[in-house]
Formats: sequence, C-alpha cells, structure tokens
Amino acid sequence: VDDDIEPYPAPAVLFFGERWDAPQLDYNTVQVDAPVGRACLHCGEPVEAGDRGLMRLTMRGTRENPVATQEPAHMECDLRMGLGSLAHMEGRCRCCTGIDSEPSSWTAREEALAVLAHVNQLRAAGGRAPM
Ligand SMILES: [Zn+2]
Ligand SMILES: [Zn+2]
Repeated sequence: VDDDIEPYPAPAVLFFGERWDAPQLDYNTVQVDAPVGRACLHCGEPVEAGDRGLMRLTMRGTRENPVATQEPAHMECDLRMGLGSLAHMEGRCRCCTGIDSEPSSWTAREEALAVLAHVNQLRAAGGRAPM
C-alpha cells in the first residue's frame, strides 16, 4: 500500500477457511472460525465446514434503527459479486452484447462456483495456482 495515497489504517479483513491467493488477503487479515450454519450474504446458503470466505460489514435493521453486522460471504460468491456473472466474463451478457443471454438455471452458489472455476482456468493458462 502506498503511504502517499493511503493515510488511514486499513481495517483488518476477516476471513475463514483455508487462505487463498487474492489481493484482499495480502495485508491486514485475521482468520476467524468458519461461521458454520450462518447464511452467506450473497447466495443465502449456509456456510459449511471447509468453506472459504470473508466476513463482510453489512447494514441490517430499519432506517430508524440501523444495525451493523458482520456476515459471512463465500469467497466464490464474493468473487462473483466483484467480477460479474460467468456470462459477463465470457462477454455473452446483456451489458456486453445488448442482447439478453440465456437465463441461467443455476443457483447463485452454482453460478459463483462456475465463476471461480473460470477464474482458475484463466490462472492455469497463465501458469498460476488456483485460488
Ligand atoms: Zn455464497
Ligand atoms: Zn457484460
């Protein structure tokens, strides 16, 4: 991190499961116990033992009584949020072509796992280890 452009202390990134190779885990990280049974912020499926992911600061509650919570996000679901859908990564989506692509019959988690697999294919082609 360049001190000239980043004068504030970076908050710790909380992650669970086995560490993976991503810039967000390069600096100030704390490994926490996997929040088994809690729903993923993005796909809604419960975290299982052995899953990898991040704890994300989230606002819940009401406008009058907002509550900040830390909620789990599978690493692949977080990746999919950052990169977009598989259709987008492959240039088949509406934002890339102006035409609706085939609606996906996958669940959000399946879609996220497909994005992770696609990223790992690209990494392998570049001689890099999988995430
Ligand atoms: Zn998820
Ligand atoms: Zn697109």
